[in-house]
Amino acid sequence: MALFDHPEFADHERVIHVADRDTGLRAIIAIHDRTLGPSVGGCRVYPYASDAEALTDVLRLSKGMTYKTALAGLPFGGAKSVIIANPADKTPALIRAFGAAVDELNGQYWTGEDVNFGTADAEILASRTPYVLGRTKGEVNTGDPSPFTAGGVFAAMKGALRHRFGSDALAGRRVAIQGVGNVGYHLAKLVIDAGGAAVVTDVRPESADRAALLGAATVETDAIYGEDCDVFAPCAMGGTVNPDTIGQLKAGIVCGAANNQLDVPETGQLLLDRGIAYAPDYVANSGGILNAFGDFSGHHDVEAVWRKVNAIGDTIEAILDTSARDKRPASAIADEMAEAILTKARASRG
Ligand code: NAD
Repeated sequence: MALFDHPEFADHERVIHVADRDTGLRAIIAIHDRTLGPSVGGCRVYPYASDAEALTDVLRLSKGMTYKTALAGLPFGGAKSVIIANPADKTPALIRAFGAAVDELNGQYWTGEDVNFGTADAEILASRTPYVLGRTKGEVNTGDPSPFTAGGVFAAMKGALRHRFGSDALAGRRVAIQGVGNVGYHLAKLVIDAGGAAVVTDVRPESADRAALLGAATVETDAIYGEDCDVFAPCAMGGTVNPDTIGQLKAGIVCGAANNQLDVPETGQLLLDRGIAYAPDYVANSGGILNAFGDFSGHHDVEAVWRKVNAIGDTIEAILDTSARDKRPASAIADEMAEAILTKARASRG
């Protein structure tokens, strides 16, 4: 598919297609913007139906990373990579071949965990290139980003609850979590430990069963949208917040970990019209990258990281208050805040 005319092109700086004859690797690395620093973004392994589908996904995800790092106050640009493969075919040789491509970028792109690419994969990657975040055996060991991502989503949820109800108490609140993998599981635990109720779903029954052990109720995958609850938390794949699913939602808040939750940007207006408070995804889910910064800087102060992760709630509350006051979508307000940071940085660089 043509790149420059692609609807998601968004002035990406580099889009690199990677193929390796020996391992069969097919990957795309998209570097969106390096205004604020070297680019970062996880590596997703997914059996995309076509190259075009993979390209669309990686372009949307990398732009989201630019906005995420900008609003998180990190000296990083945005990027992302996708490996087009069935996760069952993800061999160490394939990961190393991908690592060689990352290494050739000489630190202009740092990568790490994403869907179907975990901490063990990150360590294999690190055997081929130093430009890896979320290390478990690196010099500073920031480890699995998921608990920090979940912590940030939980803080965002509390910010959204304060905006909507004037209190962030979880007691008496019910949260519907779509996808209880690495992040969703931790989120369910945080909700339940704080006295809230959780209802979860997952396409992998064993993941839903694991969350049920925490005390969460479980439902079939399509039933999650219509659950009677206060918060809908998308923690699986993107695009699950769309006109069809919004029509089913009973929740007054959407706040989760998934990237690109809205199918298209215009869906932000639909949420506003329906009176649903939306915590912009790349703000709510920035806890993991806040933690992974330690691998880049060589210094990991966990307490300082948690202070920043918990502050995500104040950012979300402020965005939602502005959204309600100005009657503009929260997603658009977050985009504008990120663009303002980038514009200022470009201007100061001349
Ligand atoms: P994961 O792969 O561990 O978990 C996702 C879960 O969703 C899996 O258990 C999967 O079976 C389930 N799932 C997939 N499709 C589903 C569907 N249609 N209905 C219900 N369940 C479904 O991934 P993760 O690391 O927990 O990340 C979840 C989301 O959060 C992803 O979109 C990811 O990009 C985003 N995210 C993750 C992090 C992180 O630190 N892991 C950081 C930022 C953003």
